[in-house]
Amino acid sequence: MPTTRMPMITASPHRTQYVAHENSAGTRNLRWQQLWREAVTDPRELLDLLGLGHLAAGLLPTSDTGFALRVPRGFVARMRRGDPADPLLLQVLPQAAELIEIPGFTDDAVGDLAARAGAGVLHKYPGRALLIATGSCAVNCRYCFRRHFPYAEETAAANRWQEAVELVRADISIREVILSGGDPLSLSTPKLAELTDALASISHVKRLRIHTRLPVVLPERVDEELSAWLRRLPWPVAVVLHANHANELDAAVADACARLRASGATLLNQSVLLRGVNDTVDALAALSERLFACGVIPYYLHQLDRVAGAAHFAVDDASARDLIEALRGRLSGYLVPRLVREIAGEPGKTPL
Ligand SMILES: *Cc1c(COP(=O)(O)O)cnc(C)c1O
Ligand code: SF4
Repeated sequence: MPTTRMPMITASPHRTQYVAHENSAGTRNLRWQQLWREAVTDPRELLDLLGLGHLAAGLLPTSDTGFALRVPRGFVARMRRGDPADPLLLQVLPQAAELIEIPGFTDDAVGDLAARAGAGVLHKYPGRALLIATGSCAVNCRYCFRRHFPYAEETAAANRWQEAVELVRADISIREVILSGGDPLSLSTPKLAELTDALASISHVKRLRIHTRLPVVLPERVDEELSAWLRRLPWPVAVVLHANHANELDAAVADACARLRASGATLLNQSVLLRGVNDTVDALAALSERLFACGVIPYYLHQLDRVAGAAHFAVDDASARDLIEALRGRLSGYLVPRLVREIAGEPGKTPL
């Protein structure tokens, strides 16, 4: 597996070598950034695109949820037309069920506010520092705990990474830096290079991990500039994708995965177990098989974080265990993800 590479010389910043396309206003305007801006944000338009306009009357005004609809058009194109139960649609369409308060489903379900070590840094698990690189995502997933976390004010990139880098430098127990968010790949590649240039001078950092849904929802993000950055990093890199259903992984996503692998990254996937989306053996098996066809190893299947507004996606633990057992009876061992839950205060993800 392409997990090791030669150390590199980091005397000068890489970012000057990137070709930026500038528009007449002098700002960078890459194709993925334009596609990002053209995302669907109006639920009525989304339903119209899918031939489901007749359902618009029952739509929830997004102002009621405090978490707007946002979905790139390429992802919409992978949804089945005319199917209100499409597993990709259900992940992004605001539902009335979000407004029902359910005991046990709260705003800070995983204890992130308590694990904060400094501006945008969570140090919850031994050896790993998680950087909340940004609060932005190309897609808004209805089940996401991010819908309540005050990320906008609290990102590691805000002060040119300074505080985050110094926190990592000061703690020699940190072997791995994890970029998370939000979606870290929503930052521009030069901004990411600014961070990795600074981290390259810290000898106890041995690995970089990137948690991202962007190669799945906007595969154009994996452009030549990103690949060049990845190739030049001085550490083995793991990219953990977030896909929940096989239908998310079309040919364009497979190509993006191939580009990521060609730049030396090891690809893993984590999914969230979601009622109505992927809570059948057939759906989970198809996802694992499709992931591997794209060069991606299934890593985690998460039990939903118990976040307010997402209770309608919850699958009970007994059913979740049954699903994993059935998967084990059907797939190669390496295609069966680990079923875990994140419990506040625990030193790692908790296996179920
Ligand atoms: C999930 C998580 C990690 C990574 O955990 P792994 O089990 O190594 O994938 C690290 N830090 C935080 C804060 C996390 O939530
Ligand atoms: S953090 Fe991940 S799951 Fe949450 S909205 Fe962004 S892309 Fe979706």
